Amino acid sequence: MTVSARRRIVGEIHLTGHPASPGLAIGPVAVLTSAVVSRVTKGDPVQEAAALKAAIEGAAVELADLIARVHDEAAEILEFQVAMLGDDALAEGAYEAIAAGVAADDAWRAALDAEISGYRAADEEYFRARAADLVDIRDRVLAGLNGANTIAKISGDSVVAGDDISPSTFLAVDWTRGGAIALAGGSPSSHVAMLARSRGAPMVVGLGPLPWNGQPPSLALVDGDAGTVIFDPHPETRRLFEHRMAAANAAQIAADAGRLKPALTADGKRIAVLLNVAAPEELGGLDPAICDGIGLVRTEFLFEGSRGLPGEDTQYAVYRRILDWAAGRPVTIRTLDAGGDKPIPGVTVDGERNPFLGLRGIRLSLARPQVFRVQLRALCRAAVHGTLKVMLPMVAVPSELDRAKAMLDAEFSALTAQGIACARPPLGIMVEVPSAALCAEDFDAAFYSIGSNDLTQYTMAAARDIGAVADLNDAGHPAVLALIARTVEAGRRRGVEVSLCGDAAADTRLTNALLATGLTTLSVSPIAVARLKAAIAGVIA
Ligand code: PEP
Ligand code: MG
Repeated sequence: MTVSARRRIVGEIHLTGHPASPGLAIGPVAVLTSAVVSRVTKGDPVQEAAALKAAIEGAAVELADLIARVHDEAAEILEFQVAMLGDDALAEGAYEAIAAGVAADDAWRAALDAEISGYRAADEEYFRARAADLVDIRDRVLAGLNGANTIAKISGDSVVAGDDISPSTFLAVDWTRGGAIALAGGSPSSHVAMLARSRGAPMVVGLGPLPWNGQPPSLALVDGDAGTVIFDPHPETRRLFEHRMAAANAAQIAADAGRLKPALTADGKRIAVLLNVAAPEELGGLDPAICDGIGLVRTEFLFEGSRGLPGEDTQYAVYRRILDWAAGRPVTIRTLDAGGDKPIPGVTVDGERNPFLGLRGIRLSLARPQVFRVQLRALCRAAVHGTLKVMLPMVAVPSELDRAKAMLDAEFSALTAQGIACARPPLGIMVEVPSAALCAEDFDAAFYSIGSNDLTQYTMAAARDIGAVADLNDAGHPAVLALIARTVEAGRRRGVEVSLCGDAAADTRLTNALLATGLTTLSVSPIAVARLKAAIAGVIA
């Protein structure tokens, strides 16, 4: 990633920000504005409070409707908004202001604006990235109060430009038509960025103030790979960009054709390509033949909703759905990896000075045995429905694996004694802490799965969510590649499988270097499979 920069070449405006979703796009600029609709107040605080209450309830009903119509993380994101709307504390300040004579819309806007500023100023990227959800909630309730729809109609082939974009606005656009997003603010780890990646909409964030007054540019070129945007391009700049787009499209079409075929290097070596998923909905409509199995199921999604911690039956049903989809192919489910950049209210510890070095991953599961045991039981029960493997996140020392193994054995024995159908899945570890990579042979693990995202941040001392050190957070650095090679060698000596499931697996600039370490199994999100298989075909192993 690059830092924000701007330059102007005879009329065209070049801005550089951070890539948030890959791909190239060209389109007319649609500037996001928040429509302000004037409202006639009812004057009476009791009526105003009732109007606000009705608008909040109406917004929750609208969101529930939307949730029923969308899939994957989109539904989770909207559920997050429903949960926030249901939190009485959010509207408390607004009701107090209404009681003091302020109109409902002004009171709500002021209360939410204060909350949004708090989120934007938060130390943790996770909270800064959620500010757009609060903007969404603010505007949806205001629309209800004002009897108007503030969500602008955006054509799906536009380059949407603005300070930030809310999930609702994003979901209202048909992104199959080729549009893109260029934001002055925003974050690569925001909910909208996650949605843009899964919808294939190129997105660049952090461009800094958009440099036009009144008269916005008419056309924009967005490069979501490089994190650059060119507004009002010169005809020659546009021609060259269209040329690149045509080449990228041709490469994508060629890659798509190989999507269902096994991955082979140029010299015929078979590489296993697995999938990373966060929820079973992501598998809907996907042909299991695109992969050799599932290399990473991030189970955090189950624990993040508004409905509290998931029980054993809920977890069992979800794990079983994934195993059923895989139809006998191996499925690796990771136990809860909360903490760090994934706080879960009621489970993780608040106020750690450095949560990435704190009680996260397996450390947290061992500290919360009552939560961990439920997950282990659900996994043992699901294991009878396919080829299940279980892995532990953030393991640093062998005793963590040994303790988890003892708990897994105990839950398996207890289920068996109760006459409940179950199996004891093999237990492996994620290698994402340098100590685990350096001493991998000391772990009695059934397999190793390298988490390059965390392994890179801990090796390079460069946080994965801080843009200012993004250049140092380089999975292709020789130090990171050496740790990967060392883990592969440990797996070879111990005769156990080694895979890599971090984002580096999908970065085709690294495919050559990763395969050179001896890796033969890579795990990526479904959208990256075709591109990865095409890249593998170009490597001589
Ligand atoms: C990783 O660290 O590379 C990984 C796959 O885990 P997560 O990104 O969920 O921390
Ligand atoms: Mg990790």
